[in-house]
Amino acid sequence: MKSSEGSCERIFNELVKNGGVAGSHKIEASEKWDYFHAGLCTIHYNPKMNVLDENFIRISLLHEEGHIRLQYRTILFLTLLFIVILLIFFTNIDQHLKLLCSIILTLFSCWLFVLMDEYESDKFASIMLRDKYNISKPSKILEKTLEQMPHSWLSAFTHPSVKKRVKNIVEKVDRNN
Ligand SMILES: [Zn+2]
Repeated sequence: MKSSEGSCERIFNELVKNGGVAGSHKIEASEKWDYFHAGLCTIHYNPKMNVLDENFIRISLLHEEGHIRLQYRTILFLTLLFIVILLIFFTNIDQHLKLLCSIILTLFSCWLFVLMDEYESDKFASIMLRDKYNISKPSKILEKTLEQMPHSWLSAFTHPSVKKRVKNIVEKVDRNN
């Protein structure tokens, strides 16, 4: 497919029209991010991303849209975590142990939550590609897109491996016929 300057904005508008992206959300070019990034209600993208294949841009924008739509879960998770930590502090165990338990629980559950959020955003994007563009195996597009975005040491910690992310879509979204 032919790529042209400003593809990200054009594809974003196309996704707003077909309901993949909410009409109240915005898009903004920014050199601050290496690839794509989800803000509160805005998807940021590096202008370099305009040269990507159209479907790679679609799945990336939809993935970020997934993050925005799932933000309410982050609020639920943090509320739940806060309550659990509060309960730990009301127990009779040693103060140091309370602190240690709280720190370990916070770090571990936040890490798991961040990984889960990536899987869910991939799933949202892949379902949209399958249902709105009739792409029967969105896992193939996800795989090729991720291959073009080398992971930093930080993203290796906050994102599941490409292999696991692709497997998740093969199992949950791809059509088998
Ligand atoms: Zn993500």
